[in-house]
Amino acid sequence: MKQRETSLNSPLNGHQHMEDMGDEHIPGSFETPLREDAFEMDDELKMELIEKHFREIMHVLGLDLSDDSLKGTPRRVAKMFVKEIFSGLNPKNKPEITLFENKYRYNEMLVEKDITFYSFCEHHFVPIWGKAHVAYISSGKVIGLSKLNRIVQYYARRPQVQERMTVQIANELKAVLDTEDVAVLIDAKHMCVAARGVQDTASSTVTAYYGGRFKNEATKQEFLRYLSPTGE
Ligand SMILES: [Zn+2]
Repeated sequence: MKQRETSLNSPLNGHQHMEDMGDEHIPGSFETPLREDAFEMDDELKMELIEKHFREIMHVLGLDLSDDSLKGTPRRVAKMFVKEIFSGLNPKNKPEITLFENKYRYNEMLVEKDITFYSFCEHHFVPIWGKAHVAYISSGKVIGLSKLNRIVQYYARRPQVQERMTVQIANELKAVLDTEDVAVLIDAKHMCVAARGVQDTASSTVTAYYGGRFKNEATKQEFLRYLSPTGE
């Protein structure tokens, strides 16, 4: 399997035409570009409008919307966009995090690996899917394990760029756990690479973020060892 690794600890530089950026999947910023008025419409209205516009797209493509198999599609797509695959755009869907006092195992690394996620490339609106591995060293608080999963899912459920998603998850972990000592590694496949363009089905993209003590080579290696199939 061919992999390209992107380190996200150094700032991105260089200017490129926007379209080139989209084609090369280069992220512009680590904030999802949202308008100020992004959530002034409620979910019901968003679904109504998306349904209407998606019906129009299907119509333009030449599909017969009176067909039994197709007529419910615009509504299904609208509901899926708003309530499921892009629900992570809305801050009201952000997982509530409860922390616990860490009375023992103080200072040890916790790794939650193989968190399966499904996201969507914001340049082509087709799936990005793969595994996220996250780790942190407790500053005195610990988080429920399922919450690590929920944080990954929240940031996956929006149009994304893999590099940005990696940093967004890391930033959220740093904020809720009150520590710089977090690591995030994402290994994912992109439908837009596999099914169109260069049509490379074997490649996957690896992005990693190492904060605080994870920048230390020994700590980083310990984290990466946990991710190897044998756990060595
Ligand atoms: Zn794409």
